[in-house]
Amino acid sequence: MVYKADPVDESHANVTRESSNGSPFGPELLEDDRGGPVQKSLTLSPLPSSLFENEPLQGIPKAKIAYFFNPSVASFDLGDDHAMKPARVAIADALIEGYALYRKMGVFASLWHSDWGYCLFHRMLKLAFNGNVTPELATSAWGPYLDQFGLDAGNDEEKSDCPVFNGVYKWCQHFSGVSVEAGRMLTEGNADIAINYAGGIHHARRSSASGFCYINDIVLATLELLRMFPRVLYVDIDVHHGDGVQVLTEHDCYESTYFNGKFFPTTGSKRETGLRQGEGFSVNIPLDDHIRDGPYFETFCEVMDLVMTHCQPSAIVVQTGADSIAGDKLGTFNLSIRGHGRCIEYLKTRNLPMLVLGGGGYTIANVARAWTYECGLLNDAILTD
Ligand SMILES: [Zn+2]
Repeated sequence: MVYKADPVDESHANVTRESSNGSPFGPELLEDDRGGPVQKSLTLSPLPSSLFENEPLQGIPKAKIAYFFNPSVASFDLGDDHAMKPARVAIADALIEGYALYRKMGVFASLWHSDWGYCLFHRMLKLAFNGNVTPELATSAWGPYLDQFGLDAGNDEEKSDCPVFNGVYKWCQHFSGVSVEAGRMLTEGNADIAINYAGGIHHARRSSASGFCYINDIVLATLELLRMFPRVLYVDIDVHHGDGVQVLTEHDCYESTYFNGKFFPTTGSKRETGLRQGEGFSVNIPLDDHIRDGPYFETFCEVMDLVMTHCQPSAIVVQTGADSIAGDKLGTFNLSIRGHGRCIEYLKTRNLPMLVLGGGGYTIANVARAWTYECGLLNDAILTD
């Protein structure tokens, strides 16, 4: 196993982990003798720049589950007061590794993507960011143009959901490029399930950021899946409605979302069923505050059974936002981690190629525990709380 990180930014450690046991998936020994988690050890070394071009991955062993993670994701910071903490993905990864789930999966590098050719949806955002946008530029030269892109300068006087922060462009390259690569794992038949918990950013529109979301990796990955799979079903269990995905895909794929109808972005009425040839593709289920596991899963199953019958999907994309779990800083649902995970179990039983993405989640302990638990379920491992 080779596990590599950012070659571009000197502030991010270049990390290479080499397998010690020769397994094609290359897991390190992740448990001590008592089965408990062990401390990670990383070997730092420079990486050839060619690894980070937008080249197809070569020589990857066929894996049932392909798991993507880049440690440098933890270095991005939207601001002390901002609810979105990219580091939560690193904490989830530490638990996933600590519970020895690496042994069950192919663990792959997340690559930076310098080629935005696939990213036609977001060409305006590319112009906005220009690869070099900084809070200082946002305040000065870009200031007059930020509003139209749903951005702000990220200073104390003018806070918003989507501040321009140092590294914003690379962060977007990171999680969106990885989601596309994870999707490619499925389209090329190299995995049955691909996981990128850094992705699942579902509010971003074609030309503007929204709700902590600057680029819509879900749409990009879905487009990759549609190259191979004729019917892709998008399922969203975040507490917020996945409006960006609905707008950008309602002609092309089926989607079913379960969310709090009173919350931002206040879209997703049951009347929004798709446009033109996509009429009937969207199934939105607004739910009330404080919903618990029983009614939530009963509704989920009832609707999903119908959606599955109607859609007959050939692949699934699931956004596993953990802000629908009780105790989230922003969410108001009362789901337990197990209750949230039952939706993942349901989808897994369909035995379809599945792309599993992260999403919202603002109580970091909940996020890390939920995604670890669900990663275990995907690997047929039941982890205790
Ligand atoms: Zn959310």
